[in-house]
Amino acid sequence: MEQLYDKNVNCPLCSTKFFTKQVRTKALRLIKQDKDFMPHYQGENPIKYIVFVCPNCGYAATEEKFDFVYGWEKEKILKEVSSKWRKRSYGGIRTLDEAIDTCKLALYVGQLLEESKLYLGSIALNTAWLYRLKEDKDEERRFLNIARKLYEEAYYKEDLLGSNMDEFKLAYLIGELNRRLGEVENAIKWFNIVVSKPNSNLNPTVRKLAVEQWRLAKEGWSNECKVL
Ligand SMILES: [Zn+2]
Repeated sequence: MEQLYDKNVNCPLCSTKFFTKQVRTKALRLIKQDKDFMPHYQGENPIKYIVFVCPNCGYAATEEKFDFVYGWEKEKILKEVSSKWRKRSYGGIRTLDEAIDTCKLALYVGQLLEESKLYLGSIALNTAWLYRLKEDKDEERRFLNIARKLYEEAYYKEDLLGSNMDEFKLAYLIGELNRRLGEVENAIKWFNIVVSKPNSNLNPTVRKLAVEQWRLAKEGWSNECKVL
């Protein structure tokens, strides 16, 4: 069975019809998941294909956002992105560099459209993961740091209702990003938020992860490479 298939997409800005690759759910074989939730699969990793990019106008967003662009947002994209866009397609099998380009574009578009910090954080984290696959540690760190800052803002300022994130999972993730960045004290502070709240038992998987990573941080293991 082919791992990838072509998904038909209509651009909500310029009405161009295009294809973008998606990984068949049935073909996914999870090998492992890193402690910041990065999934590793046998074969193609769907994290390369989360962003749809219109080849004609350059509008880019993840699937759940793609169709929802209105009024002033359209004007803004036309002015800031489309007018400078060199027509090209990301609809084929993507190299890691191409996948990274699509994420950076979606991050730029998302900032222009003032999307939630949670959304922008998830794209920054996805970009960091792609750099991890590429084994580019400097750029991975740079984007882990961007994700960390965005997620911290989301934690303090945004309503997580209706997102795939809850308060504990987000606090845990911020802790883990801090730990990976060598910010041990911050990491411990964030893990403590999860560990110390009795109702974090509502999310036992995250609580267990927080306890494990809290211990690692306490023992001074700021960088996961040392642990493995
Ligand atoms: Zn378009």
